[in-house]
Amino acid sequence: MAARADDLEIRTDFSLLINGELVPGDDWLDVINPATEQVFARCPAAGDAQLDAAVDAARDAFATWSRLSYEERAGYVRRYTAVLAEHHAALAALLVREQGKPIAQARAELDSCLKQADDTVGLQISVEVLVEDDTHRIELHYRPLGVIGIITPWNAPAALALNSLTSAVYTGNTVVIKPSPYTPLTTLKMGELAREIFPPGVINVLTGGDELGRRLCEHPGVQKISFTGSVATGKKVIASSAETLKRITLELGGNDPAIVLEDADPKAIAKDIFFACFVNSGQVCMAIKRIYAHEDIYDDLCDALTEEARNAPYGDGLDPKNKLGPLQNKMQYDKVVEIFEATKRSGARILVGGDVPDRTGYFLPPTYVTDIDDDSRLVTEEQFGPIVPILKFSEVEDAIRRANDTRYGLSGSVWTSDPARGKAVASQLEVGTAWVNQHRAISAYVPFGGAKESGMGRQHSILGLKGDMEPQVISVPN
Ligand code: NAD
Repeated sequence: MAARADDLEIRTDFSLLINGELVPGDDWLDVINPATEQVFARCPAAGDAQLDAAVDAARDAFATWSRLSYEERAGYVRRYTAVLAEHHAALAALLVREQGKPIAQARAELDSCLKQADDTVGLQISVEVLVEDDTHRIELHYRPLGVIGIITPWNAPAALALNSLTSAVYTGNTVVIKPSPYTPLTTLKMGELAREIFPPGVINVLTGGDELGRRLCEHPGVQKISFTGSVATGKKVIASSAETLKRITLELGGNDPAIVLEDADPKAIAKDIFFACFVNSGQVCMAIKRIYAHEDIYDDLCDALTEEARNAPYGDGLDPKNKLGPLQNKMQYDKVVEIFEATKRSGARILVGGDVPDRTGYFLPPTYVTDIDDDSRLVTEEQFGPIVPILKFSEVEDAIRRANDTRYGLSGSVWTSDPARGKAVASQLEVGTAWVNQHRAISAYVPFGGAKESGMGRQHSILGLKGDMEPQVISVPN
């Protein structure tokens, strides 16, 4: 396929944000549109001295920023989300071109993170009185940490940057953000817009490769790393942050189970389950990655999900008819193609999809698989692509045991017409969030994060905000 006209001209209108200045990098990164496999943009890559400059700027800005009230900082964040909302259309289009997701999902990513930011800055962090008696008053305060390094992955770059950024700056910290080298552009544009609102140095944006992430973790001027990405990299973040004993929040991968009980109505829930499996072509930490269906409704559920998949066209995310876009990058595409091939070789039954199309772009069809072993790659690994196994069970205890038989523990769901029974089953899942009759429902008021190897700490809610702060006891005798 020939390159599309809009991909022939390479965009270069991107800059790093350091101390309120838009600056070029020491080097360049090429950015590929995964729907065309063409380089469509080039952006700066920061060098060592630029990392030092960004951290110094963030440290200097911290002195004033940390002394502002919560209300004042909330005002900055609200003005920022208003400016981001004015640029919504351009940001959404850029997000599709660098990330691949369908335009409706790019708009939804922006809508939900803007709302989440506005809601977050309405949360109140209060001084807690721990003891008050004749002899003492002991209070628990929360102080900002200093400079927070934010490292984000390529699947939801806008939302993951804004979520972490809002939490950090609202609580009085300043930030250096490093997005994925696969999807740096939306974050750089968000940095440009932040420059119009925030004092210099409060928000700095640096793009570069994985090595820049490692150096940010090692940097002695950074007090915390707020990391979203894979389990393997999360472990490296812990190791490289150890020397300086940084605080760390890790939002890592998942292998979310959905357990469908015999009293669920397959036709009624198929649309929601399908979307939770294949939103962003399955490249979502909390996508449904394994379905356990009771034998009584198994065939009906397979039929209903197959029908949904048949009615979900895939292709360039800029074409609004497409429900699935491409895989985001060649490495991920090759990994998922391997899982497709291994699954077919294993003798598992492909209900729908399964073929690797011979076309330009990292496209794969939505694929459901049955008759597959519990110890297959598709069941045990985080596939992070549009292929999901449907596994049969007859006893719910067996489904719970198999759902929990994993090193992951991000989230999971139970589907039933009896919410009380759903809750009882959900409470036995070893996950950070267990939903009943829904999946992927998050909010600023509810903590989110992983059990087991899916993470450390929580984001969102008061609990998440406190993760960006240091508790301080103040004890005063009467
Ligand atoms: P990744 O771990 O490869 O990369 C994430 C970020 O880490 C990138 O910015 C990368 O440049 C940087 N990085 C790489 N090596 C580093 C190092 N040694 N030190 C510091 N930084 C380093 O992840 P990915 O492939 O971009 O993203 C997909 C993964 O992210 C999936 O596993 C997904 O489940 C997970 N994820 C989790 C959540 C969550 O909230 N739990 C949300 C989105 C994605």
